[in-house]
Amino acid sequence: MNEPDRNTRHAARMARKKTVVDAAIAAATDERGLLLVITGNGKGKSTSAFGMVARALGHGMKVGVVQFIKGRTDTGEEAFLGRQPGVEWHVTGDGFTWDTQNRAQDIATAERGWAIAARMLADPAYQLVVLDELTYLLSYGYLDSDTVLDALANRPAMQHVVVTGRGASEALIELADTVSIIADEKHAFRAGVKAQPGVDL
Ligand code: ATP
Ligand code: MG
Repeated sequence: MNEPDRNTRHAARMARKKTVVDAAIAAATDERGLLLVITGNGKGKSTSAFGMVARALGHGMKVGVVQFIKGRTDTGEEAFLGRQPGVEWHVTGDGFTWDTQNRAQDIATAERGWAIAARMLADPAYQLVVLDELTYLLSYGYLDSDTVLDALANRPAMQHVVVTGRGASEALIELADTVSIIADEKHAFRAGVKAQPGVDL
């Protein structure tokens, strides 16, 4: 096929595609708060949530972030996003279960973090709420699943919520509007590379 023919065919194919895409865009007319779940074993769950924090702040929205599990307060996301006007940022964890080795303390910490999250989920002033690593508190049974699901389901109608963490439950996935399961194809850690600032923290 000569070059002019290829160009003509390409233009026709793109015109057909545009009709389909335009129709799909025209059909999506709803506006409401969304529940997003970013789960799976691959890297990119929390950073996806923080990307949405940046987007929301760019629109002047009020954002609440609760980081469960992690105790560290030296991450790039907190240093940068946590100090932006419009963000309320809480780091509520004491570290991973294999670090704390103290179930009673982990549960008390989980409940303290959840109290902050529950307050945000009841307040329409928060337009985006990120519950980072929340899934673990459900899979370990540190928080009551029904309590958490009820609070998510009954949050303000226009409030967006992002939940991250591995092993999201079926019930959480069912409740969510958008679910991404990030696959672990490769991770530099397994090649002996330690967590890198700017990439991993
Ligand atoms: P990120 O915060 O980088 O988006 P994540 O939220 O998907 O990662 P977590 O399970 O919360 O993943 O782990 C956070 C830390 O562990 C990051 O330093 C990340 O690079 C690293 N990590 C994530 N997935 C893996 C993996 N499959 N193997 C090894 N390390 C991982
Ligand atoms: Mg994470």
